[in-house]
Amino acid sequence: MSGLSIRSAGDSHRGSVREHNEDALIVDPRWGLYAVLDGMGGAASGDVAANKARDVIHEYVRARRSAMQPRPLLEAAINAASAAVHGEAQRKKDRRGMGTTVVAVLVDGRRATVAHVGDSRAYLLRDGHLHRLTSDHTIVAELVARGALAPDEADRHAYKNVLSRNLGAKPTAAVDVSEVELQPGDRLLLCSDGLYGYAPTDAVHHLVASTDPPDEVVRDLIEAALRGGGGDNVTAIVVEAGAAVMPRATMVLRTTGAGAWWARRERLLAAARAAGLHRSPLCALLAPDEAIALVAGNFADAVYHDLEKVTGVNVWTFAENLARGWLGQGGAWPPLRELLDGLGRATDHVVAEVRREDGGLAELIEVAVARAMVTAETAVGGVLAERLREVEGELVKAQAERNARARVETGRFVEQPTLPYLRAPAPVDVPAPDVAAVLEAARRLAHAQPAAGPGAGDRALYARAVDHVHTVASAAGANDAALAARELWDVRVLDEAGVSPLFEALDHARDAHLEGVRRAPAPPAVRAAALRRVAGAYQQLSASVATLVVESAAPAAAQLREVVRETARLRAEVSKNEARIGELERQLATAVDPAAPPGMEHPR
Ligand code: CA
Repeated sequence: MSGLSIRSAGDSHRGSVREHNEDALIVDPRWGLYAVLDGMGGAASGDVAANKARDVIHEYVRARRSAMQPRPLLEAAINAASAAVHGEAQRKKDRRGMGTTVVAVLVDGRRATVAHVGDSRAYLLRDGHLHRLTSDHTIVAELVARGALAPDEADRHAYKNVLSRNLGAKPTAAVDVSEVELQPGDRLLLCSDGLYGYAPTDAVHHLVASTDPPDEVVRDLIEAALRGGGGDNVTAIVVEAGAAVMPRATMVLRTTGAGAWWARRERLLAAARAAGLHRSPLCALLAPDEAIALVAGNFADAVYHDLEKVTGVNVWTFAENLARGWLGQGGAWPPLRELLDGLGRATDHVVAEVRREDGGLAELIEVAVARAMVTAETAVGGVLAERLREVEGELVKAQAERNARARVETGRFVEQPTLPYLRAPAPVDVPAPDVAAVLEAARRLAHAQPAAGPGAGDRALYARAVDHVHTVASAAGANDAALAARELWDVRVLDEAGVSPLFEALDHARDAHLEGVRRAPAPPAVRAAALRRVAGAYQQLSASVATLVVESAAPAAAQLREVVRETARLRAEVSKNEARIGELERQLATAVDPAAPPGMEHPR
């Protein structure tokens, strides 16, 4: 797991003869990418080819550095560059035949992957010796390799600079790739033929083997080529592997971890599918493939980007969007919870697969994934909290509107003190503490009120009425009024003398009680609320007492009707008897004096 501290430098010079510099280079320590390109082609097309290839390779590697292994990555990057240069050469007549060499190194921990096409070279300086890592792709070199040409003849050959391969001649390039395990103190040299063709080999060796820092070595190498004639563009890069360093876990995750995760993206998707993730209610409107690609795929990408950048922002955003979309359409929490669990279980398969190859890395990824799941849940929790706050806000708003309405109504009520008897505002909740305090003060004031007025006769009944009204006004329900009315009614004769004192006591108590509320020290709104309650309580109590009167009178009325019926029957009975008596008297009179006419009065 340990890498090497890397120092590097590179530079390019037009040389002493050429008008253009058709060489190009990449020195990118962040991605561990170094490359030298040597362009060729008429009408300054050489630098177009070299620069184009440089940009494509650089961008390609930057975009996929974490996702691909160095060897296939370099090969693919160089092929992409070849396709780009070839395409450009085909499109424009004056660029036909343009191309470029490339020698590139990708340093990944201790491993240096070297790839090349053409005759730009890579050397390795180790233990004071300079080793060539690349063989030139020239016709002459290939003849030598086949034994058709003696090595000493090659240097003098007329076609010694004619390349057998380059980048741009064809859409694809045959790339030679090799790997070197770097050791502390190693130096890599990448250069175009402008260096080794003009600077003496011994000078190059001597300079690279010096203890000078890489930038000074590069400067001196170019200087040596210029002194040697400088007949070509000259480019050199020196990469120095220093003392071994133990990379931090985050560094490992950024490079190896992100790559390992990305390489198993399909594994994650397959595991998610096997777990039935596409059957989640959250995916109800999606085809199974779509669902897996969208949910598991986006999750995999988010985790990858978070690994690469050592942040949690991508997973956070993923989970937040998921939760917003689902909860926003009224979705319930459990399916979301299940979906996250399903994703978590799918990651287990990925971690298990990494573990088979690299236990240490698997452990790091496992921790990173666990962190991602926590991040996702925190994000979802945030959305839930957000929604709770919204609902809470709406409730507070609704309550405020209700209170405002109540204030308007009670405001009207304060100006029209007789109105309470026309309204039926039954209290539905216990009074607020400040209102309760006013109610209590009003009760005391009503008790302290001297008996006065024409109906103030029954003082005890008055006091009981005040207390009952106070109870009703302070209570949450409306049933207390009926109970209070029954207690006040007590045992009462249903006549003027029995009922009138009760209504008089209630009337008197109402006036005194309401007056007590008006005199209680409190803000107008609080007093208004208390007035509303006391007036409401009297209204309820009076209504309940009236109901009792009707109830009490009802049986008496029935009796009365019975009496009336009986009286009528008796009257009929009496008149019938009187008729019989009259008849009997007439018969008797006839018997006493038969000459007397019927009905004639006889003196007794
Ligand atoms: Ca050259």
